[in-house]
Amino acid sequence: MVQVAVVGGGINGLCCAWQLAQAGYHVALFERNELMQQTSSASSKLLHGGIRYLENFEFRLVHEALNERKWWLDNVPKLTRRLPILYPIYPHTRPRWKMKIGMVMYDFLAGKKGIGRHRWLTPHQVKRCSPQLKQKGLQGAYLFSDGQMDDHQLGLWVADQCTSLGVNIKTGQAVQSVSKDGVLRVNDTTYQFDWVINVAGPWSEALLDQSNIKHDERLDLVRGSHLVLPAISKFGHLLEEQDSARVVFVLPYHGKTLLGTTEVKQTLSDPIAVSPAEKANLLNLYNQYFTKPVNEQDILHQFAGIRPLLAGDGQLNKNSREYKIRQDGQLISVFGGKWTTSRALARAVCQKITP
Ligand SMILES: Cc1cc2nc3c(=O)[nH]c(=O)nc-3n(C[C@H](O)[C@H](O)[C@H](O)COP(=O)(O)OP(=O)(O)OC[C@H]3O[C@@H](n4cnc5c(N)ncnc54)[C@H](O)[C@@H]3O)c2cc1C
Repeated sequence: MVQVAVVGGGINGLCCAWQLAQAGYHVALFERNELMQQTSSASSKLLHGGIRYLENFEFRLVHEALNERKWWLDNVPKLTRRLPILYPIYPHTRPRWKMKIGMVMYDFLAGKKGIGRHRWLTPHQVKRCSPQLKQKGLQGAYLFSDGQMDDHQLGLWVADQCTSLGVNIKTGQAVQSVSKDGVLRVNDTTYQFDWVINVAGPWSEALLDQSNIKHDERLDLVRGSHLVLPAISKFGHLLEEQDSARVVFVLPYHGKTLLGTTEVKQTLSDPIAVSPAEKANLLNLYNQYFTKPVNEQDILHQFAGIRPLLAGDGQLNKNSREYKIRQDGQLISVFGGKWTTSRALARAVCQKITP
């Protein structure tokens, strides 16, 4: 039987292990800590196409992500749900006509996998959905839908699927090096596999470097932080930062409000933690849009994660959310990717090794 090692117990590693086990491979997954403890549990909890990626012309990615959104919603209803989201239009935001184009394209790219078409709400209707959203200057809002999940629990659900298919999940096992001929080094012991899949998320580039494997792929590691605040609405909000036009989510989540995210470049040696500046920026944005101000005392919880983004031209919010798969002999390495597209990424990995 063909033996495959997967390195990384985030959502991408778990989906690769799941897909490979379904295809009949004998799979062992190595995770240096516990499953689903890093980026995959620090997301904005959205199963989404990413309406903002349309501005970067990422049509393939958005289409794929919208298909995947539907799959998760249909197949794991206990841990996912459809979430209505408001995109309010003010004089300082993207104009209504531009957002209309985006909304039409978003519905079009979802096609038959759509979960409800967008519609325009008047200021009065917006107030009913989100009573605390400031009305001054409000022209109305687009209402559209995306998926929402419990990222940690949904990842553990995938782990259960893996276990039931016989995947040998080894936690607390840091892989020291990988090789192009299928050798994996853990705890100073080497193991031979037919294939090794490096899906270590933000650490995938570092794993190649520490294994002395030359590669051209570069990741931009971009921290994203979230604050958890008291509940304000059953609707999600997509709000623009005034200066940068960057969008930030204010979402209902487990009876509270999830506010995020930020984009701050960092290195693997920097702590993965919410900085005072990020906290201040997020609270400031919230207070620009909502009538009841919040401050640090209102923060119930906070968390940060690092996005492993394909390196771009320096404008962090323009970095692609695509994934890239590299093959060196019997070693496959994955760079980038979204939570929502983890199954699609895993299918692409599987196709690489299945003749
Ligand atoms: C702030 C933020 C918000 C986001 N929001 C969304 C969203 O709403 N929707 C969406 O679709 N996507 C979102 N994303 C993107 C998504 O979360 C990530 O693309 C995805 O979780 C990456 O998963 P991963 O498995 O590649 O990485 P990780 O989850 O980081 O997993 C990598 C794993 O590899 C392990 N590892 C590393 N090195 C080794 C080694 N040498 N040996 C063994 N194990 C090792 C690590 O411990 C880790 O568990 C967001 C990301 C961030 C940061």
